[in-house]
Amino acid sequence: MERLFPLCRSLTGDGVRATFDILSEHVPITRTEVPSGTRVFDWTVPDEWNIRDAYVAAPDGTRVIDFRESNLHVVGYSEPVRTTLPLEQLRERLFTLPEQPDLIPYRTSYYSRTWGFCLPHRRVAELEPGDYEVVIDSTLGAGHLTYGEITLEGSGDEDVLISTYVCHPSLANDNLSGIVVATMVAKALAERRLRHTYRFVFAPGTIGPLTWLHENQDSLDRIAHGLTVSCIGDAGDHTYKRSRHRDAVVDRAVETVLRDSGKPYEVLEWEPWGGDERQFNSPGFDLSVGTLMRTPHGGFDGYHTSADDLARISPASLEESVQACLDVIDVLETNRTLLNLSPYGEPQLGKRGLYRSAGGAVSSPDDERALLWVLNQSDGSASLVDIAERSGIAYPVIRRAAERLEQAELLGPAGSPATPGLARR
Ligand code: ZN
Repeated sequence: MERLFPLCRSLTGDGVRATFDILSEHVPITRTEVPSGTRVFDWTVPDEWNIRDAYVAAPDGTRVIDFRESNLHVVGYSEPVRTTLPLEQLRERLFTLPEQPDLIPYRTSYYSRTWGFCLPHRRVAELEPGDYEVVIDSTLGAGHLTYGEITLEGSGDEDVLISTYVCHPSLANDNLSGIVVATMVAKALAERRLRHTYRFVFAPGTIGPLTWLHENQDSLDRIAHGLTVSCIGDAGDHTYKRSRHRDAVVDRAVETVLRDSGKPYEVLEWEPWGGDERQFNSPGFDLSVGTLMRTPHGGFDGYHTSADDLARISPASLEESVQACLDVIDVLETNRTLLNLSPYGEPQLGKRGLYRSAGGAVSSPDDERALLWVLNQSDGSASLVDIAERSGIAYPVIRRAAERLEQAELLGPAGSPATPGLARR
């Protein structure tokens, strides 16, 4: 994150590519370049923006605003400028936060051409009258939008989409945290045998997922579950925003994992406001994509300002978030619907060595209760996550119980024939 933080990411441009260069040291990320002007549904891929330097120099020649100190000083997508302005005219191009006079605001102007500088409000009062040299050494013209993908092939025919946005410059929680958490989740999964295929998408906000969806229309029907990750490295509790369907498997998987964590968390209902989940959950695509965060967008102090720096996030918070994602993926990988093959009364577990009293194989009362819950609910309609939800027992305990019952041939895949001689009358 320390290397990624200073890069001037934006909707397009070399900051995004340099970000992917660093990620590619950890994960096999591929990139797609889509030309400016490409129509994607109701939108158009914008011109590409790049910036090398920008400053405002005082009448005595000293740089009073300097892009090299912070890329937040320049309004994102500022067109190139090279001029001299008296202070009164310069002021019209300066953006500050009078309420938080020490912070640099983060501002962009993607869809209308302009230019400007952002700085701490306190600094404006210090500017002496006179003529200021203004330079924005940027380019804004036909180029490409760049998005990155990591695809980890699974053995089954369903896909899981994990997405995060990459358009924010030097801001840490929003959303460098999402970029690194998604990367580390992909890195961990790359070493596993997977049932689902995992498709990680790293794209600029809004236009990025739209472009990706446009380019991948032929394979969207494989996507069974999805998660966007953002603002996930601060010290706040985990917050989960449900998909439009509200009770999709991914919703129930995340909520079960957060419940099992034993830590405080919050669940938010779906609303068509927020991040990239808006595009995935639009009715035309109808993908069940939830959003895992800590403190949501706009909810933390210093949101979209220079206060969202590396001090705001911590390795411990990031690691816990990576683990939460992996726990959700464990549910998605192992959730299945099974059938009790001995459904007439409880099968005798003791003689099969499944009770603690019969050999100590089972370690806790929860394990015993889980065996009974799984047997009782497995009538071919309830999946393991359904059973974890209804029983209140942690998902890994339910999953382990199911594995033991399968080994004892008391459970089979939904659709298995019942035990011979016990045909329903
Ligand atoms: Zn943001």
